[in-house]
Amino acid sequence: MHPFTTTGLVVRTYDLGEADRIVTLLTREHGLVRAVARAVRRTRSRMGASLEPFAVVEVQIAPGRGRSGLGTIRQASSRESLARPLVADYPSYTSGCVVLETAERLAGEEGAPTPRLFVLAVGALRSLSQQRRPPGLVADAFLLRSMSASGWEPVLDCCVRCGAVGPHRAFHVASGGTVCVHCRPQGCAMLSPGVAEHLAALLAGRWEDVALSSPAVVRQASGIAAAHLQWHLERDLRSLPLVDRDGAHPAPHGTTHVTDHREESRARTAQIS
Ligand SMILES: [Zn+2]
Repeated sequence: MHPFTTTGLVVRTYDLGEADRIVTLLTREHGLVRAVARAVRRTRSRMGASLEPFAVVEVQIAPGRGRSGLGTIRQASSRESLARPLVADYPSYTSGCVVLETAERLAGEEGAPTPRLFVLAVGALRSLSQQRRPPGLVADAFLLRSMSASGWEPVLDCCVRCGAVGPHRAFHVASGGTVCVHCRPQGCAMLSPGVAEHLAALLAGRWEDVALSSPAVVRQASGIAAAHLQWHLERDLRSLPLVDRDGAHPAPHGTTHVTDHREESRARTAQIS
């Protein structure tokens, strides 16, 4: 294979040996690409500075040979650095970490094109860096839309099992959406009024509707989105518990019926075992 040039979002880096760095990029045309940047830690190389998480870079990669299959990054130039504004604001940063981790997990096989996932991830990070919307909501919208792009959009307007038109109050994570009273299996989360509508508004990007949701609705919807994602990924996201879900709307004391994602996660684990 010949060297190729592509634009990618740096989703992860880790050090290799004394001077090298392995970089994982999410690209539009080649999906996930892992490659080595040689000697970037030995000198104050400009290439090293541009290959940090949250950076959008244009890279030239020589494909690897042998068992590792790791390519080598020959050139890298920064296209857009979102790291500085994100690192400066902790809620934006933690939501940004959720975006990177989710994007990496959802990208699937290395080399499989992921044009929509790339656009969604960069769009979410830009939105976080501009701080125009509450970071927790941007993360939730990204979780839902990236799952939709991967074929796992939660069903919210009808029964996911029999198709009966909703709205239905019960959400079954393992089934992937709301279920009617006749199909309702054990282990459903009962949605408070407005939660399904809030999730649908996040999916569609109707931010004016999202803004009207109560703190309790926002919180339960976050839990549902997280549980839905983690069920399909078959593992928990490390970065998710760090997101401050109360940043947008201070939660009133004594709020009940709140299902946070950790409870959801435990409920899901109980369903599996
Ligand atoms: Zn049904």
